[in-house]
Amino acid sequence: MPEHILSGIKAIVAMKLRREGKLQKEIAEYLNTNRTEISHYLQGRHPSKKVLRTSQEILNLPPQYAVRIINTLSDDKEITSRIIKALYRVEVEVEREKCILCGECLECPYGAVEMGDFGVPVVNPERCRVCGRCTSLCPTGALKLIFLKKKMEE
Ligand code: SF4
Ligand code: SF4
Repeated sequence: MPEHILSGIKAIVAMKLRREGKLQKEIAEYLNTNRTEISHYLQGRHPSKKVLRTSQEILNLPPQYAVRIINTLSDDKEITSRIIKALYRVEVEVEREKCILCGECLECPYGAVEMGDFGVPVVNPERCRVCGRCTSLCPTGALKLIFLKKKMEE
C-alpha cells in the first residue's frame, strides 16, 4: 500500500508541476522517474482514482501530519524530500532559548545541521531533506519543522 500512496502523491505533484509550466521531461527528472510514468500520471491512467483520492486526503491534513506520512512512504529520502518541497515551503527552525547545546541534532544523517555561533546549531536548508529526525532527537523541543505559506495554495 505505501508504494500506491507514494504513486498517488507523486501524481498529484506531477500535475501541480505541470500547471506551473514544467515540461514532462523536467517533472520526470525531478521525481526521478521516466516520462512514460509522468505521462500516465498526467493523463489519469495511473494510479487509480481511489488511490488518488486517498493521497489527496493525506495532503489535506495539516502539513505537519502530511509530511510525517510522506516520510514513511519511502526510504529514499531524496525523493520524499523533493515531494515535500514541491508541496510545502518548510524549514527547520531552531529556538535558541530552548537549546541546551547538547549537540544531539548534529547527528542529522544528511549533514544539514552545523554548529553556529555560541554552539547553537544552524540548519542548512539546501542539505535538509525534511526527514524530521532532528526534531525527534532534540530533548528540549528546540527544533521544529516550520511551515511557511503552503505551496498548494499559492
Ligand atoms: S529535518 Fe532531517 S535532514 Fe533536515 S536537518 Fe533535521 S535531521 Fe537533517
Ligand atoms: S538537539 Fe536541541 S538542544 Fe541539543 S543542540 Fe540541537 S537544538 Fe540544541
